[in-house]
Amino acid sequence: MALTAIVERARVSQWIADLRLGGHGGVSLPFAGNCARPVEIFCRGLPDRWMVSAGLEKDAPMVARIETPCRKCEPCLITRSQLWAARARDELRVASRTWFGTLTLSPSRAMQLKFAAQLGLTERGHVLDEVSDSELFKAIVQEASPDITNWLKRIRKNSGATLRYLLVCEAHKSGLPHWHVLIHEYQGKVVKAKLEAAWRNGFSHFRLVPTTDIRTAWYVTKYLSKSALARVRASQHYGLPPVSSHAERMEYLLSSVQTSAVPSEQYSASPFSPRRNDMSEHSPPTTSV
Ligand SMILES: [Zn+2]
Repeated sequence: MALTAIVERARVSQWIADLRLGGHGGVSLPFAGNCARPVEIFCRGLPDRWMVSAGLEKDAPMVARIETPCRKCEPCLITRSQLWAARARDELRVASRTWFGTLTLSPSRAMQLKFAAQLGLTERGHVLDEVSDSELFKAIVQEASPDITNWLKRIRKNSGATLRYLLVCEAHKSGLPHWHVLIHEYQGKVVKAKLEAAWRNGFSHFRLVPTTDIRTAWYVTKYLSKSALARVRASQHYGLPPVSSHAERMEYLLSSVQTSAVPSEQYSASPFSPRRNDMSEHSPPTTSV
């Protein structure tokens, strides 16, 4: 071993000792929240860089063992659902009006999307008989993504309104997706008839909900706690609703603090909570309307 490597390794060991980690034992970082089946990640020190691995360079001193959430167990799904409910609640409160609704696929569109999904899987080398229901569902949702995008584009164009949205995609027993939707109006208005007519791929139904009706936020997001297959698609920085003036911002911040203090609420989304869709890394890229 080169002298520099020995020196570097000694420095790593010293660093661990400094942190009183007990030599090669490393530090344990519990970032898994209330996950029932945390996934372990090991960070090992190497002479020239730090490496996150699950077994590489076994001789390097272990620096940290990090517990991360599995994102699939019941507590993880409930946490995901609560986070999105908190974000939806904040959007509901600040938006001038909010529409709540569902989008479903007509049998013919569903068949087209399923066929396209199967074709795509085959082209990527999958054997259809071996494709799991969840893999097929994900592929169908992927195929349906442009339908959602086009719908959002149409309602924005028809209304000229500034809108923000949350879509929760749920798997029906048939293995086909449907969507529970919140459309928040920030500037301008959407008309119910146009909102529904803009969805050309099946059935749609929308109604206005009171800004104080927190149950709506729960209703849309509860599906996220039921199945790991449920997917989120939302406006950029969803949960950080835009406020135009300093006075509005102060009012919003104060109302957030007051609501968070209510003990019956198990969640709270501060305006400074993480902006990323941190619990939905598999969802399609978020886009703004
Ligand atoms: Zn978990």
